[in-house]
Amino acid sequence: MRREWLALLLVLTITVSAAALSIISSHNPENPSNTKVKVVATFYPLAYMAEGIGGDRVSVKTLIPYNTEVHSWQPSMADMITVSEADVILLNGGGLDWWMGEILNSINMSGKLIVDTSQGLELLPLGSENGHEGDHIERGDYDPHIWLSPYMAVRQAERIFSALVEKDSSGVKYYQERFEALKKRLEDLDDRYQKELANKTKEVIIVAHEAYGYLAARYGFRQQGVIGISADQQPSIQAIRDLVDIMTRYNIRVIYLDPAYSASYVMALKSDVEAKTGWDVQIMKLYLALGPADGKDYLGQLEANLEALIVGLRGS
Ligand SMILES: [Zn+2]
Repeated sequence: MRREWLALLLVLTITVSAAALSIISSHNPENPSNTKVKVVATFYPLAYMAEGIGGDRVSVKTLIPYNTEVHSWQPSMADMITVSEADVILLNGGGLDWWMGEILNSINMSGKLIVDTSQGLELLPLGSENGHEGDHIERGDYDPHIWLSPYMAVRQAERIFSALVEKDSSGVKYYQERFEALKKRLEDLDDRYQKELANKTKEVIIVAHEAYGYLAARYGFRQQGVIGISADQQPSIQAIRDLVDIMTRYNIRVIYLDPAYSASYVMALKSDVEAKTGWDVQIMKLYLALGPADGKDYLGQLEANLEALIVGLRGS
């Protein structure tokens, strides 16, 4: 399989190089699209940040289609070509886009800037508090969901900003201004999370997918997942039973679900808790921000997540 890939890649590389030569020979210096920094982001939040900071000076492509389950996604040959044409390659890191290493090993890296936006960040170990160890298919030992925390996202944006300046130093003023604007919005949101969740009455949230560990760590609560880290996993009967116990014990009447995930297990949990307690259990959206959704962009989803968390953590 790997050998076939490489053979195919060799053919494609020759084809692409030939095409590139013909483009250069007919190159029109007036065409600004030729001068844009070509950015490839592995998934939506990074593309959103790159577009926010890079504006007109960059063209951004995203590999993982919007609102797709990211943990089990695999690149295709076409994605490999997209990466091979990029100037700047943005990774989330933390094991989320582990497959990029295989692509980078197979392409010509000269002139490319690879940016692991999680580098130097303090990542949370995986599986420390949930009952799903062994379930998850994360590559690596860390929780990769840093983009859902506005505090961590500022750090990711910082790395993207530095990379754009490194690649296109004549745009430094432009990038700086746009980065500061994005940073301010994220920092304001972090402040709001701090303030709004300071007087919470609950300590635990129930989520379909345990993607909110960085919010939990920063704002002082815990998350308990219904399914494992990947959308195509199933909870055991015992896992559902444990969750019913937790919800009953801590008086939790909200279950969070990203619209990209199946509602079936969450519905089963809801009806079990309702049958046992007579409560009304509410299912609320907590976005994973894997693409625009419900008319909300990345930041809009982080804002909506705060509103949803206020309901769950400050409820009576
Ligand atoms: Zn996830």
